[in-house]
Amino acid sequence: MPYTEDREAWTKGQGLWEHIPVETWNDWGWQLKNRLTKVEQLEQFMTLTPEEKQGCYFANSKLALAITPYFFNLIDRNDPNCPIRRQVIPRGEEMTIAPEELLDPVGEDEHMKVPGLVHRYPDRVLFLVTDRCAAYCRYCTRSRLVSNAQDYNFHPEYEQGLRYIESHPEVRDVLLSGGDPLLLADRKLDHLLGRLRAIKHVEFIRIGSRIPVFLPQRITPELCTILKKHGPIWMSIHVNHPKECTQELKDACDRLSYAGVPLGNQSVLLKGVNDDADVMKALVHRLLRMRVRPYYLYQCDLITGSAHLRTSVQKGIDIIRSLRGHTTGYGIPQFVIDAPGGGGKIPINPDYVEKVDEDEIVLRNYEGERFTYPLKPGKGAPVSEPYTYET
Ligand SMILES: *Cc1c(COP(=O)(O)O)cnc(C)c1O
Repeated sequence: MPYTEDREAWTKGQGLWEHIPVETWNDWGWQLKNRLTKVEQLEQFMTLTPEEKQGCYFANSKLALAITPYFFNLIDRNDPNCPIRRQVIPRGEEMTIAPEELLDPVGEDEHMKVPGLVHRYPDRVLFLVTDRCAAYCRYCTRSRLVSNAQDYNFHPEYEQGLRYIESHPEVRDVLLSGGDPLLLADRKLDHLLGRLRAIKHVEFIRIGSRIPVFLPQRITPELCTILKKHGPIWMSIHVNHPKECTQELKDACDRLSYAGVPLGNQSVLLKGVNDDADVMKALVHRLLRMRVRPYYLYQCDLITGSAHLRTSVQKGIDIIRSLRGHTTGYGIPQFVIDAPGGGGKIPINPDYVEKVDEDEIVLRNYEGERFTYPLKPGKGAPVSEPYTYET
């Protein structure tokens, strides 16, 4: 059945927690304290499938189970195939590990110069400043270290990372990630951003965060003041499905935008979540309405126990083809594979070139029509009169 969305409506509300005072609901500390982290808590509100129940029992030995009340409300509890549910409720399938799957699927560890600092590209670094998130995505690329369920023993201690950046003048771009950097207390974040800004060669600072999606209450005016003070700070958020684009997320994006934070989105292509052209189109339209520019669409990494969430690369290419030309160019993310073994992000594009030789390039447009662009300069003839325009 094709996906249709109500283009006017923005979901909002306390849902199952309607009895809580609104100030309490909007307190991000309350949201964190009241996360659903146990199978018994989930079962208070919904009937889990046997697959999910099994997943919950061993989640804490792989990647912690945690869902904020705010995000839990977005789940359709009557639909076992709900796209929100698939992202955060563990499944027994997570414990089946295919031979091609890896604990460190994009080879970060081999580029880790000091604990938490990945220097893979010439001019920029990935700086992991915490191992905690507001809620845990079941397909987490860093499940080996995030939530520390696997005893990976990652202790974010960012002094060493800062010293590395200070002593490497080629680093002009620092990407804060984790875990979720916006879980750090305001004071800590203020200090960290101040330290980075004080490094002359650091030109570009960005934060990768799913907090606006899991915990929009965290985007307080005080946090926005800090981001503004150290700005420009760019931010990549992580929205996978149009149902995540609520009034609360929109308001949080407004606050960030007004604080001068340019926003991008990184989606992961997930089976049964967003591997559908109509869903993806609705998503990018919602993002544009929130001033968020779709940045990357990732082929799901070969993370251990993620086979049930992965779909074919062809599906991703087909989705991009269904967007290009058919809708706003600003809405089209770059589809990438983060190559196993540490190859980095590699773009994958639909092929619009039918033929190219010395004489011409033959192209297909988004409607499948053929066009030719000549490549050989023809022999020119001088015009005898200057150009005039008839009036
Ligand atoms: C994704 C990533 C970056 C940033 O890459 P961009 O293409 O500039 O967004 C930097 N370092 C690492 C290790 C990454 O995985």
